[in-house]
Amino acid sequence: MKISVLGATGSIGLQTLDTVRSCLLGTNIVALSGYSNIKALASLVDEFKPEVVWVPDRDATTRLLELCEFSGEILTGEDGLISCATETNADIVVNALVGRAGLAPTLAAINAGKNIALANKETLVSAGELVMNIAREKGIRITPIDSEHSAIWQCLQGSSALPEKIILTASGGPFRGWGRERIAVASAQDALKHPNWDMGAKITIDSASLMNKGLELIEAMHLFAQPPEKIEILVHPQSIIHSMVQFCDGSVMAQMGLPDMRLPILYALSSPERVATNFPRLDFLNCGALTFEPPNLENFPCLSLAIHAAKTGGTLPAVMNFINEWAVNQFLQNKISFYNISEIIDKAFDIYNVRTVTSLNDIREAESWAAEFLERG
Ligand code: NDP
Ligand code: MG
Repeated sequence: MKISVLGATGSIGLQTLDTVRSCLLGTNIVALSGYSNIKALASLVDEFKPEVVWVPDRDATTRLLELCEFSGEILTGEDGLISCATETNADIVVNALVGRAGLAPTLAAINAGKNIALANKETLVSAGELVMNIAREKGIRITPIDSEHSAIWQCLQGSSALPEKIILTASGGPFRGWGRERIAVASAQDALKHPNWDMGAKITIDSASLMNKGLELIEAMHLFAQPPEKIEILVHPQSIIHSMVQFCDGSVMAQMGLPDMRLPILYALSSPERVATNFPRLDFLNCGALTFEPPNLENFPCLSLAIHAAKTGGTLPAVMNFINEWAVNQFLQNKISFYNISEIIDKAFDIYNVRTVTSLNDIREAESWAAEFLERG
């Protein structure tokens, strides 16, 4: 198997390479991309010897060449990232980029006939229908890396029956059980302390606001062709059940395991095969009680906004995705407060005229509107 890893230096990228190293011997890594962490990228280049590497610009190229031995092709810029996703003989492109940067390479890779192992949920949030339609036309497999979606997908294996309901589980994030006043003054440092998962900064803040679950609702709608009304969100603080599917006879399938992203990553790369691992096993006698509760929509308005965007559809999820990414960055830099994230999205929703999506251009126009909205302040 030949794979390209976009976003190789991030949380999912590094765990993908760790999974390849320990479980998928004989896999050839043909392309790698990094962004700010050139030192980590250099060490991956030395180890995996890809044919192609992407870095953002010339300075990063110089630094990379100072840090490692590499005689292959170095690509830069937005077009270079697209070439990195398309111009190799990779069978699978792992998209572990964060945010909007993930959409264009996903679309380009699909058009180039590459299967996609998708961590970058923002791709499906902003342009899910478009991406899934093109993938279907081209006969491309998009396998989910997101743990909930991997769980749903595993529960659906071997069943021709449509789900009656998908139950998307959520840990509840670091602010679960906190009062509104305490959340209102929470800092980025508080939000970055996720109870169960060690992830990149953006998704950790999205998990604290429950926007992540909203993004996952939209991701699930597109991956499994389900309306939002059939997807229920259930808080399960232990993150042992990664999601469930209920069928028309009342039977419920759940996929369980320790919270370890290497499991969904491995399944995205190896399915329908199961590959033996020495990862730690779930110990039912010592994992404690599994508990469930409804999401608190009052304390976490981002989830209500995302449910509204999911139900409305069209260009609204792309606008929400754009503004959320900007607002999360501002929050990480302590420039706005936690609840400002939802307030800014809410304000945009009040005045935005939703359009239908027929091409990538519609998404780009929606994002331009969002950029202007944010500039106006
Ligand atoms: P990280 O921030 O850890 O990694 C992001 C990767 O993208 C890094 O390699 C980073 O490079 C690179 N990158 C950042 N900005 C750009 C840009 N503008 N252009 C090109 N490359 C860029 O994120 P995660 O690994 O946590 O998340 C990746 C995706 O996976 C997200 O969509 C997230 O929602 C999803 N996901 C993550 C999970 C997790 O456990 N982490 C779980 C489920 C889904 P560098 O580090 O060198 O700056
Ligand atoms: Mg998830």
